[in-house]
Amino acid sequence: MKLDLKRISVTDGAVIPFSYDADLTKEEMNGEYPFRTPVHIEGEVRNHLGVLRLQASASALYETQCARCLTPVKKDVTAQCSYVLVQEVQEDDRDDMYLIDGQSIELDDIIIPALLLEVDFAYYCKPDCKGLCPKCGKNLNEGPCGCSTREIDSRLAVLQKLLDKDD
Ligand SMILES: [Zn+2]
Ligand SMILES: [Zn+2]
Repeated sequence: MKLDLKRISVTDGAVIPFSYDADLTKEEMNGEYPFRTPVHIEGEVRNHLGVLRLQASASALYETQCARCLTPVKKDVTAQCSYVLVQEVQEDDRDDMYLIDGQSIELDDIIIPALLLEVDFAYYCKPDCKGLCPKCGKNLNEGPCGCSTREIDSRLAVLQKLLDKDD
């Protein structure tokens, strides 16, 4: 959303609140399109003694699959940002300054990148997800598949053969 700052740029204490939904359904992350529902963005730009400060938060539902067992996972992802809006680079260049071009800002350009930074590399259905059996593909959270016990059995069989040879 584009915000026109002209009407608050000369009035101390003036505020422009904003609250809107952004469409990120075409945003690709790790080969998926995880933002299937609108991303909510809200905040304000306030003129404090002639300095414009932007404060905003974004909240989204991130829909992906568990990195271990591939079951669907939905996680809330939120981001906050706070910037002083400046029209030219300042001498005392601080981290929280955002350079604006003219008298308006495109909020999405500031807030969406902050939200994407909050996305984790991988999500899990639960912290102790057991994942899938590498042999048969069964979801091991639903119970053992039998592959592992058979493996132990065959190892024991080999041991048994060695023991037999020693006799
Ligand atoms: Zn899982
Ligand atoms: Zn198995």
